[in-house]
This record gives sequence, C-alpha cells and structure tokens, in this order.
Amino acid sequence: MSDPSETLCAMSTTAPLPSTNPLRARAEIDLAALRANVRTLRAHAPGAALMAVVKSEAYGHGALPCARAAVEAGADWLGTATPEEALALRGAEGIPADVRIMCWLWTPGGPWREAIEADLDVSVSGMWALREVAEAARRAGRPARVQLKADTGLGRNGCQPGDDWAELVAQAARAEGEGLVRVTGLWSHFACADEPGHPSIAVQLGRFREMVSYAEGEGLSPEVRHIANSPATLTLPEAHFDLVRTGIALYGISPSPEIGTPADFGLRPVMTLSASLALVKHVPGGHGVSYGHRYTTAGETTLGLVPLGYADGVPRHASGTGPVLIGGKWRTVAGRIAMDQFVVDLGGDEPPPGAEAVLFGPGDRGEPTAEDWAQAAGTIAYEIVTRIGTRVPRVYVDEESMRSGPAAGGPRSAGNRPSGDR
Ligand SMILES: *Cc1c(COP(=O)(O)O)cnc(C)c1O
Repeated sequence: MSDPSETLCAMSTTAPLPSTNPLRARAEIDLAALRANVRTLRAHAPGAALMAVVKSEAYGHGALPCARAAVEAGADWLGTATPEEALALRGAEGIPADVRIMCWLWTPGGPWREAIEADLDVSVSGMWALREVAEAARRAGRPARVQLKADTGLGRNGCQPGDDWAELVAQAARAEGEGLVRVTGLWSHFACADEPGHPSIAVQLGRFREMVSYAEGEGLSPEVRHIANSPATLTLPEAHFDLVRTGIALYGISPSPEIGTPADFGLRPVMTLSASLALVKHVPGGHGVSYGHRYTTAGETTLGLVPLGYADGVPRHASGTGPVLIGGKWRTVAGRIAMDQFVVDLGGDEPPPGAEAVLFGPGDRGEPTAEDWAQAAGTIAYEIVTRIGTRVPRVYVDEESMRSGPAAGGPRSAGNRPSGDR
C-alpha cells in the first residue's frame, strides 16, 4: 500500500513519517471498523451496558486510540487487566471523566490508593485484597469502588463459593457500612463460553446466580452483575445480565472459528499487518532457504524477503505454513521465520522491491486473516494480534473522523477512500 492517497491519521510513533518513506512494516488499525463493531456488539446485547476490554494495548491495537473510539461509539465501561493499564486511561485526552474504568488483576501492594483517587472500579477476589483496598480507602478518605469476583467454575482468579464467598461478602458489607468501600459489582468469568453447549456453561451460570443472590441477601446492592466475555455476548443472551465485557470481538475477530466467522456476527477485523518487500531475487533450483534449510527451492524461482519476524510477533511456529498475500497471490512462508525477516517463494513472479506483502487483514482484498495465521501457528487469533510487537508502528485509519477533521497527530496525506476500496 504505497498509494500516497491513502488515509493516514495518527501514528503511534512520535514524529510523523514523511509519506515518501514507506514503512518497513505496519499494523493498520481501522478505527471506523472498531466503532462499527462496538455498535454491532451493543445490538447483540441490547439490555446490557458494554465494557470495551482494552487490556494489553487493546490486544495489540493501541489502548488509547481504541479506548477513545470505543467510547465514542457507545461503550460505557473500559476494562483492563492491570491497575497500571487502567490508571493510564484515566485522565487521558479523549476519555471522558465519567467513563467507568475497571481493572481486575491485582497483587499485594498494588496501587490501591491511586486507583481510588482515579475513580477506578477495582476487583477483589479474596480477603487480602479487601483488606488492602479498605486500608487504602481509609487513608484516601474516600470509599473505593469494589467489584467482588466469584469463581463460578473457571478455576482461575475469583473467590471460591461457600465459606470463602460468605466471608468475603460479610467483610465487604461491613466495609461498606463503615464507608470504606462501595460494592459496585458482582462478577465472574466463563471457562468454555467459546464452546456453546459445553456443560460447564450452565453450571457456571447457575452458580453465578446463587452467589449473586447470596450477596444481595446479605445486603449488597451492586450496580452491575456481569459474566459475559465476547463468546457469551455473541452466543448466550441469558448471560448478558447488566454488562457485557467484550475484548476480541471489538477487534473484529471471532472468539473461535467453531462458533462463526467475524462476518457471521457482523464484525469486521480492525488490524491489517503488512510489510514492504525488502528484496526480490532469482535463485536456482536446490537452493536452501533460511536457517536450518527447512525449505529448498524445487527449481529455478524467485524469492521475496518480508522484513518481519518473530521479534515483531510473527509466530515462529508458522515457519513453512504462514500465508501472505503478494501481488494478488497467496504465498506461504518458505523455511524458518527468523527474528526480523522471512522468505516466500514467489514462483518466478517478480514484484518490485517495496511491493506490499499482507500477512493478515479483514480478508476482503483476498488477504489471509489473523485466524489463518492462528491456524498456521497452532494457536488462537487472540495471540496473533496481541503479540504484534512495538517495533511495528500502528497506523490509525479513521474515515469517519477524517470527515469532521484530522485526528491527533494530523493527517500524513490527503485522501478519503471508503473502506470498501482498500
Ligand atoms: C480478557 C477478558 C475479557 C475479554 O475476553 P474476550 O474473550 O476477549 O471478549 C473479559 N473478562 C475478563 C476477566 C478478561 O480477562
């Protein structure tokens, strides 16, 4: 994509790159697609509020631009794993002060007081955390917004049902009585929501209802009860409760190919990963390719050098299998993926150096998708997009706001092609 008329609004790098200097590689982030996905997800769960989960740099897409776009499109909450991620969002330009921000992965000695002062909703899964947050609230002189997390069967974070839950609820109610906490939510997380009909789903839902009604019976009155991630949002209306927490679906990726494609759910992939070919050359037959010579040319051919490697998050497990679109044709990684580069056999074609190699995107230009890479590497598409490294600049494409004025960072070039053209 060296067409200078393409729409580029904001770069994650500090200095705008001159448009005469095409990038080695780039992850184009389509914020208009992200906004459309938010609207689609709201329509899937019309009775619930929507939390945009933007942990780990919005699954590799860039936390702040994605958080902003999600809020613009109607997300009521933002969710992160760590308190540091949540604190970075609070007060950031373009994030309205009344947007609720929740984080759930705490360790002892965490920044409770900062979180209280930043009006975050914090998750508590056990007594150590309740003690620390109550103490921080005492020092801050204001109550903490606390959400109690129940382990309804995931077997990961969360409070066990039974005595543990009874104690956590009793002590939370007591801290609420003392004005140290306000219990704003009761929540849980599914183990197998991406396998519709899995028996654990009904078990977890039943246990969630029991644990919620127990807590409410003990005097807690949460604003939100929630358990649905993306797959439950898309396939399990009875799990929507007051709030759905969507991550992967926001980025236009299906939680699992078994439950459907993005298009089946009205979603559009947000990230396109591409690179400029660094070299195209003729080689004879019998030529070994890349480390270990795991590929040998069958006959005289051309090789293309793609300047992306496992340091950029291209999985080494996709050596010999990962797909790339070059000059309208699918090619496969030849031999091993190295730290910074890999090779494709172009079968005699001679695209010019600088020609675009698309690793994955929405798929409607014929390019592979992140799901194709997940299958090539034996993993899930979540991991493919999330691991794209910081060496790959994120290039934000945003047709909607280009119409109403340039986004932060300013446009690199003019042009406003509709997404269907790309
Ligand atoms: C990551 C995460 C989510 C979002 O999951 P998706 O499957 O990406 O929608 C929701 N809730 C919790 C607790 C998470 O850690």
